[in-house]
Amino acid sequence: MMALNNSPDTCAICGGELGDTVLVHDRPDRFERAAGVSEADYRRAWAGCRSCGSATNLQQPENLRKLRSIAAQYYEVDFSGSDIGAKYSLVMNLPPNKSDNAGRVDRIIAALKRWDSLRSAKDALSVLDIGAGTGVFLSRFLAQASGDWRGVALEPDPNAAAHLRSLGLCEVRQELFAGQPELSGFKLLTLNKVLEHIQDPKAFLEQVARAIDPAEGLIYVEVPDVMTIGRRPPTDNILGALHCHLYSPAGLMHLLDRVGLVALDIGHVFEPSGKLTVFAFATGAEAAERLATRE
Ligand SMILES: [Zn+2]
Repeated sequence: MMALNNSPDTCAICGGELGDTVLVHDRPDRFERAAGVSEADYRRAWAGCRSCGSATNLQQPENLRKLRSIAAQYYEVDFSGSDIGAKYSLVMNLPPNKSDNAGRVDRIIAALKRWDSLRSAKDALSVLDIGAGTGVFLSRFLAQASGDWRGVALEPDPNAAAHLRSLGLCEVRQELFAGQPELSGFKLLTLNKVLEHIQDPKAFLEQVARAIDPAEGLIYVEVPDVMTIGRRPPTDNILGALHCHLYSPAGLMHLLDRVGLVALDIGHVFEPSGKLTVFAFATGAEAAERLATRE
């Protein structure tokens, strides 16, 4: 294994051993170029996990440091000066059969319908969307979900947060999720294309698990599918330097299990945009026990 980053031997998702290199990049992507990463002697590689089949992005420490320094502002790079509001309108106006977001909202609403029978106290409904981005998910979810939902959007990017506030849909907090104690008791917590940006997803998910209502909170996770490797060009955004991992369903299952969450549903989604995605619904041990014993 070449010495590319600080912990090259272990899969942070399942704790298993990293194996063969499955893809090598020999030039920086646009985020790295924006962060000042040089083309000279550039190397970045994905290593497959021998145990769960997920892939870990191995990077040169100096390049990783530069990249992390711009990570909070990557919307600047992503939209290269274009308007987040325009991007939002574009996605919101896609017909449902061409919209990844519409499919996601349909999946979550269907799961909530099944989930509703578990809810003992029919008290307030609240959703926390970590990494809310342009707000397309919360917009469509709050418009379509039955019941009176209160939304909270967490988004560290200042421009995206300002755009989210302008929508007037929900409470907007311009911050990263770090297990803030006041963020707790949510009936639904969503992590849409967030976990792949986190180097230690286990520590992160442990904090996430404490933010849901222990008796009946539901977590929805979406991550890029490791199937992307070999089926999309190496220049595809999904294979870029900002992503720490690409997940297999087995890896995501294992990760949820390691943090004491119980997976209710898990699998591949082939999205209308062409993205290959792994999704999961999970709940806490207490809620799973209630489901199992029908108490
Ligand atoms: Zn693994």
